[in-house]
Amino acid sequence: MKIEITPKLDFNNVLIKPQRTTISSRNEVCLQRIFTFQNSSSSWKGVPIMAANMDTTGTFEVLKILSKFKILTCLNKFYNLKDFKSFIKGFKLNEEIGDILKYTVVSTGISEKNYENLCEIMDNIPFLKWICIDVANGYMYKMVEFCKKIRKRYPKAIIIAGNVASGEMTQELIINGGVDIVKVGIGPGSACLTRMKTGVGVPQLSAIIDCADSAHGCGGFIVGDGGITCPGDMAKAFGGGADFVMCGGIFSGHDENPGEIIEEKDSSNKIKKYKLFYGMSSELAMKKHYGSMANYRSSEGRVIKVPYRGSLEETVNDYLGGLRSTCAYVNAKKIKHLPKCTTFILVSQQINTHLVK
Ligand code: 5GP
Repeated sequence: MKIEITPKLDFNNVLIKPQRTTISSRNEVCLQRIFTFQNSSSSWKGVPIMAANMDTTGTFEVLKILSKFKILTCLNKFYNLKDFKSFIKGFKLNEEIGDILKYTVVSTGISEKNYENLCEIMDNIPFLKWICIDVANGYMYKMVEFCKKIRKRYPKAIIIAGNVASGEMTQELIINGGVDIVKVGIGPGSACLTRMKTGVGVPQLSAIIDCADSAHGCGGFIVGDGGITCPGDMAKAFGGGADFVMCGGIFSGHDENPGEIIEEKDSSNKIKKYKLFYGMSSELAMKKHYGSMANYRSSEGRVIKVPYRGSLEETVNDYLGGLRSTCAYVNAKKIKHLPKCTTFILVSQQINTHLVK
């Protein structure tokens, strides 16, 4: 047994120190980034945020909204070729759908069945460029082998793969797996029960700092996946070196998310509206997709009623506005510059809540 005694940080352990700034208005800040990926030699320009490939957020409806903001949507891995074809049919102009598909990420697990589904989609839908290889435990040997197989078959695809939470495995996926962007996060998700059920995890801000450093050292990139609860957390993830940030919970609960609005009376008899958001390892997701939950595993995901939040566009604008403001506070004219402009300060309290019920 070993113990690591250097403190590891989560978003709520720090604040970002303000700096002298020449930015006088938030609209001087550019939130788009241009990437050229080393392993695929492909390029992409957009706002480096992704919707998580969960049932409730990785959907065509969410994609339609987020693509307007040049934000990526990682579709859930249960869509098949037929689903893609019927989505595309709804668009008249090739140009319009081509633009949407630029922000579309096709997700897959690492089983043979997942592989066949992925290839069928990638081989039949033009314009698709992004693949997300997603397993709960990215440390498996089988994962690296699967990434190599995908890289060989799709040399130009921009490949995201994970999840991991340490530098050495980040480098393994980039150098040996041929991955462009490593997905970082073990246990920080809002619908995640991994830490409780297994005791495994790494505080997300430290995981980002560690993995970003390792990825950048070998020409790769990372996406910080999970744990974003407010625009400030997203700014901290970018400030810590995340090239992209992936979000589930904060993009749930809107008109565009699947599922009915649930109405319930609260303790003072007021009607409250909710929508359902659930982890992909929750019993609900397992039953939905596989008919039952295998008895050798326990549920590592929650089912949550999240407050209904109206239109997704409003939430996105709130987050982008927050990010622009962070950039202005630390004199970062581009989101790309946030890490070099960021100094984190350790805090014991982030916000004053004494008047909040
Ligand atoms: P959030 O933005 O909601 O905090 O985190 C989203 C991330 O949580 C997803 O991208 C995914 O990595 C992770 N996640 C989704 N469902 C589950 C689950 O059932 N169990 C665990 N451990 N993580 C999950």
